[in-house]
Amino acid sequence: MSEYTGIPIDDRWILAQRGKKNTVDPFRPYAWLVEKERTASARIEDTAILFLTNRECPYHCLMCDLWKNTTDVRVPAGAIPAQIEWALKQMPPARHLKLYNSGSFFDGKAIPEADYASIASQVSHFETVIVESHPRLINDKCLQFRDMLKPELQVALGLETVNPVILRKLNKRMTPEDFAGSVNFLTGHGISTRAFILLRPPFCSESEGVFWAERSLDFAFAAGVECCTVIPVRAGNGAMDRLLEKGAFSPPDIRSLEKVLEYGIGLKAGRVFADVWDIGLFSSCNHCLDQRTRRLVEMNLSQQVTERVYCQCDANTLP
Ligand code: SF4
Ligand SMILES: [Zn+2]
Repeated sequence: MSEYTGIPIDDRWILAQRGKKNTVDPFRPYAWLVEKERTASARIEDTAILFLTNRECPYHCLMCDLWKNTTDVRVPAGAIPAQIEWALKQMPPARHLKLYNSGSFFDGKAIPEADYASIASQVSHFETVIVESHPRLINDKCLQFRDMLKPELQVALGLETVNPVILRKLNKRMTPEDFAGSVNFLTGHGISTRAFILLRPPFCSESEGVFWAERSLDFAFAAGVECCTVIPVRAGNGAMDRLLEKGAFSPPDIRSLEKVLEYGIGLKAGRVFADVWDIGLFSSCNHCLDQRTRRLVEMNLSQQVTERVYCQCDANTLP
C-alpha cells in the first residue's frame, strides 16, 4: 500500500482531525472490567483492569484514540487513589491488576508522584500490578514506585512496529532502540515487561501488516520482554479515518490476527495474546466470526496453537 497521502502527518494535523472528548470524572475511572488471563506461571486467573481517568498523554500518536477519555488538565492529588478505591469496591476479587491510564503511569502530569504511596498501599493485596508507559518515560521513578509496591510490578510498553518508516510516521517519537533500552533498564532492575504490537498500522498491505507484526514480536522477545499483546489497528480517532478515506489504511482481517498469534505462540519465547476487543470490526464473514473469536480466546488462554477454522471466506485472498 502506498505511503503517499499528500498529508504532512504531525501533531498539528493529528489534533485537527479529532472529534470531541467524552465527559469524564477525575474521581472515577472511565471503565473497569475483570477478565481471565494466562499468567507467566501458566495459570488462568482473573485480572482486573482499571482505566484510570487522568490528563491526556503528551504524545499524539497517529493511531491512538485513548485521548477520548482524558482530561485537559492534571487531576488533583488524591484523585487517582480515590478512583482506585471506588473501583475496587465495585469489582469482584482478582489476583492481578492492570492500572491503565491512557498514557504513561510515570508521566508526572498524569499520575502525581505524591500519590504513589497511597496507590501502592491500596493495591497491596494483588499478586501483580501492571502499568503502562511510553518507553521514553522509563527512568528511576519506576524503581521508586516498585520499591513501594508489595505485588510484582510489570510495565507494558508500546513497541507498535519495528518498521522504521512506519514507526516514524506513527509520530510515537521513539525508535525500536529506545524501546529495547527501556526493556533492558527495567529487566536489569528485576521488573518484567510486556509489549504492545500493532497489526497492520497505516501504510501497509495485509501481508506487510502480518510480516511486520511478526518481526516486531521477534524484536520484542529478543529485547527481553516477557509477554506481547498484538492489537489490530482500527479507525475512529479522526486521523485514522482520514487515512482510511485516502486508501492509506485498512483495518486488518481477523484471519491475519490468528496467523500472527499462531506465529507468536510458536516462538515459545513468552506469552503472546491477541487483543479481541471489538473483534467483529475485523471480519466481514458472519459464518466464521464466532468460531474465530473463540479460537483466539482459546489460544490466548492455552498458549497452544489450536485447530484452524475452515470457512468459505478462506477462498477470498487477503489484499
Ligand atoms: S504514547 Fe500511548 S497513550 Fe500516548 S498517544 Fe501514543 S499510543 Fe496514545
Ligand atoms: Zn468465514
